[in-house]
Amino acid sequence: MAYLYFDSAATARPLPEAIDAAGRAYTEYGNPSSLHSAGLAAKRLVDTARTQVAAALHCKPERIVFVSSGTEANNQAIFGLAKIRGKRAKKIITTDSEHPSVAEPIKALEKEGFTVVRLSTKGGALDLAQLEQELQEPVAFLSIMRANNETGAVYDLPGVRKLLTKYGSDAILHCDNVQGFLKIPGDRLGTVCDLITVSAHKIGGFKGTGALYISEKIRNLPAHLSGGGQENGMRSGTENVPGIAAFGAAAEKTASTGLSHTELLREKLLAGLEDSGLIFHIPPVHLPGILHISIPGVLSSWALNLLSAKGICVSAGSACSAKEKKKGNPVLSAYGLPASEIETSLRISFDIWNTEEECAQLCEALRECAKLKR
Ligand code: PLP
Repeated sequence: MAYLYFDSAATARPLPEAIDAAGRAYTEYGNPSSLHSAGLAAKRLVDTARTQVAAALHCKPERIVFVSSGTEANNQAIFGLAKIRGKRAKKIITTDSEHPSVAEPIKALEKEGFTVVRLSTKGGALDLAQLEQELQEPVAFLSIMRANNETGAVYDLPGVRKLLTKYGSDAILHCDNVQGFLKIPGDRLGTVCDLITVSAHKIGGFKGTGALYISEKIRNLPAHLSGGGQENGMRSGTENVPGIAAFGAAAEKTASTGLSHTELLREKLLAGLEDSGLIFHIPPVHLPGILHISIPGVLSSWALNLLSAKGICVSAGSACSAKEKKKGNPVLSAYGLPASEIETSLRISFDIWNTEEECAQLCEALRECAKLKR
């Protein structure tokens, strides 16, 4: 079925460059750890991808560890940092709107005795004044996302680094950059953060491949999976060569694509809905390709059903947490939305394949949704 796909924040359509790279990798079927020519050919593909992902992150290739997902990279960073930093300090700083793959490991550490401070992200901005207060005593590490997966809010990571420097803090800074990777003009997080999580399927690669950047400063982060010692001992398990090759190709392509198209579509949709009665939640700094809205009096599920019947795919919040919705939505509550706006909210996310014509159809359909009002 041909969809009108406006859900790239859940997962992006694979790029042709990624599919081609994976196709080539399937014909180079050797194990990258094997010393014969087939193995070496597969290893070359992994090394090329490492160089491509590193270039997109502005870091050295040897600092990239390929893993199975953004979720795995977040778990490795957080549990690893707790091990190497836990003897010096027991305080962890994070935000009140992290993805579950950060929030849950941190909750587990809280149960083990760490003190957790969750900085406010009310209105879509990180509370740096609160952070300044919290830096008065030793901190083990911070884990703060670059861009929020539901609202598209971009948090001020360079501002966090400045405060760490100002207070002479030696705390390690981890960033879940799954949503922000290659979506924020001029971003050079590799110069700001000590560890960075990225995931292939949000930039036109495949599901099931991610990477963790580990700066030179961090020498002893433990491996999350041990075994054959692949990825320089940091992640055992035979590498997913097609997925990794696709990730590299997607990173290279996306880095050269630019963001003006998604930004333009977002602006067009906003302009088209100006007098529609819909509520727009627009954080002070936001991703160019995410628009978060509420349709007053129309539950998200009603709108999703109507849109879905027209082949239009949008999301009621993040796909990853859809099963958790019964527990409420901590991210939107942290943003400060009332229950009436949370239960009627939708996330629309654009990619380079969306057209102005599709955008006009979406606009029309959202106006129809607004008429479902109780
Ligand atoms: N972090 C954020 C902000 C995300 O949006 C997601 C996925 O939606 C993840 C982490 C998890 O990444 P993955 O799906 O590769 O496990």
